[in-house]
Amino acid sequence: MSARQMSETRVRVPFLDLAPSHAPLKADLLADIADLLDTGAFTNGPHVQRFEQAFAEYCGVAECVGVGSGLDALRLGLIASGVQPGDEVIVPAVTFVATLEAVTQAGARPVVVDILEADYCIDPAATAAQIAPRTRAVLPVHLYGQMADMRALRSAVEGKGVAILEDACQAHGARRAGIDAGSTGAAAAFSFYPGKNLGAAGDAGAFVTNDAALASGVRALREHGQTAKYVHFREGWTARLDTIQALVLLHKLPLLDAWNAQRRSAARYYADELNGVGDIVLPPVAPESEPSWHLYVVRTGDPEALGLFLRENGIGTGRHYPDPVHLTAAYAWLGLPAGSFPVAERLSRECLSLPLFPGISEEQLAAVVGGVRAFFDGSSR
Ligand SMILES: *Cc1c(COP(=O)(O)O)cnc(C)c1O
Repeated sequence: MSARQMSETRVRVPFLDLAPSHAPLKADLLADIADLLDTGAFTNGPHVQRFEQAFAEYCGVAECVGVGSGLDALRLGLIASGVQPGDEVIVPAVTFVATLEAVTQAGARPVVVDILEADYCIDPAATAAQIAPRTRAVLPVHLYGQMADMRALRSAVEGKGVAILEDACQAHGARRAGIDAGSTGAAAAFSFYPGKNLGAAGDAGAFVTNDAALASGVRALREHGQTAKYVHFREGWTARLDTIQALVLLHKLPLLDAWNAQRRSAARYYADELNGVGDIVLPPVAPESEPSWHLYVVRTGDPEALGLFLRENGIGTGRHYPDPVHLTAAYAWLGLPAGSFPVAERLSRECLSLPLFPGISEEQLAAVVGGVRAFFDGSSR
């Protein structure tokens, strides 16, 4: 099929379309928001507590603290864990920058390590090798929705006084080797940015843990360091979960597993249909791993050219992420030159994210596959 023929039968495929997810819950949600306008309790009301309880249950943990964003959950979690200026926190080289922002905003220094080919997550052996006297925590990122190897990480930090704080911002509902995302570290951070697997209608996040003292630390820090009204044990922030966002999340949480199932079947379709096409490298799935498929990221020699070709054919794509964190301008001060982390750097050079969202139609999935095939048919001569 040539590009020209494709355009005659064009099916538009946005990179992300949230409308199909929202359609079935819109009327009930709007009614609840109207009630809220009559009754007030815009912060810390019963809806926030209801959501916190429901999400803790979903993750299989005792405590959930609703906060304003994923970054808030990471930053406040590190501070409540006792991370101090001068401490070191180990992070993977491929993540969204917020992982590193949390570390520096807690006053600590990010220590970057490479990722593994097997799951694109932090390398547990490289992590163990970087543990030093000032290391206080490791922030594994469950990249694209696939969990890091938590068992290997737990043995890497065993007996060293190093806490694992999971960056589960892309991994709502992911599992690996029988472990749920967010349930096995000392604590975990989730983001409900609208495009995440569970998204609010704006910014929101959650901190989850089985440690009651850690949870009350974050609960105080999200609200000006208050332990009771006007009792400030330390300086804090305005970092609460809005009640309106809690309502949105309460309506969406019961649908999360079904949405993730749709993501999984779309991912299976791509894996079947794109296997062996051109130079495409399919996303790795580790043994016993059930990713939440936040993103479907393939590797290819020229992702910009493939992305442009797809765009010309009405198909949206993304790049997650075009630079590993140590090569962004924001973290040039870490002084880590190109070549420091070969696996991460190759992923960043070659990555292309294909459309994947709940409600993506078979016709749309077929159009994406047709587009990728057409690109390689055209470029093979
Ligand atoms: C989205 C995301 C965050 C930050 O979440 P915000 O809610 O945007 O602050 C942190 N880490 C990862 C891996 C993310 O994908």
